[in-house]
Amino acid sequence: MSIETNIECFKEKLKGSHTQLIAVSKTYPPEVIKEAYDIGIRVFGENKVQEMTAKYEVLPKDIQWHLIGHLQTNKVKFIAPFVHLIHSIDSLKLLKEVNKQGEKNKRIIPCLLQVYIAKEETKFGFTFEEVLEVLDSKEFKALKNISIVGLMGMATFTANKEQIRNEFRELKSFFENLNREINLPNVQLKELSMGMSGDYEIAIEEGSTMIRIGSAIFGKRDYQIN
Ligand SMILES: *Cc1c(COP(=O)(O)O)cnc(C)c1O
Repeated sequence: MSIETNIECFKEKLKGSHTQLIAVSKTYPPEVIKEAYDIGIRVFGENKVQEMTAKYEVLPKDIQWHLIGHLQTNKVKFIAPFVHLIHSIDSLKLLKEVNKQGEKNKRIIPCLLQVYIAKEETKFGFTFEEVLEVLDSKEFKALKNISIVGLMGMATFTANKEQIRNEFRELKSFFENLNREINLPNVQLKELSMGMSGDYEIAIEEGSTMIRIGSAIFGKRDYQIN
């Protein structure tokens, strides 16, 4: 299957829905991204700061770059001028740094809080309780150059579809409760980023507004090259 066929297929599936496609282009070179761009894709997700910055330099400036991978505080400054949305905020310390860099760049940087929903050890993110603690803290309320526009979650890597569905469902339900309860100027919850190549169908059924799709568009990644 070509990138074009894959993208057309997703466009067809998402037609009339409230779910947006984030094309995850990590490990793929700019030429491949340009191929997707030429078919009309403008939103790309990357998981590494250096890679995203290098691609930003050489690709058209109307691309919206989403950072989806773990972000180190000392690297925020490199993406702060142009990043469209950071999906992977996993500490208050990181959020404070994003705020600082937002101030320097005279912009408000949209962010999602990454919430830990998987029954695995390896995933970054806040627990539900930690999200509440952060949003309730004085330090958070003072941040004027970030805006929390939603939540991101990754389900357990498993063949058990019911488990995946339950994890997405828990996140959606938490999202809705938060939305009812939180009334802060720097929180405007509208996005729920959940679903990857292996589980996006379930994620859409459970209310995802952003699916992050890599291999189902670009093909299998070759990690050895990187
Ligand atoms: C790589 C990655 C994706 C896309 O994964 P695929 O399975 O290739 O669709 C989505 N989200 C995050 C956080 C990723 O790192």
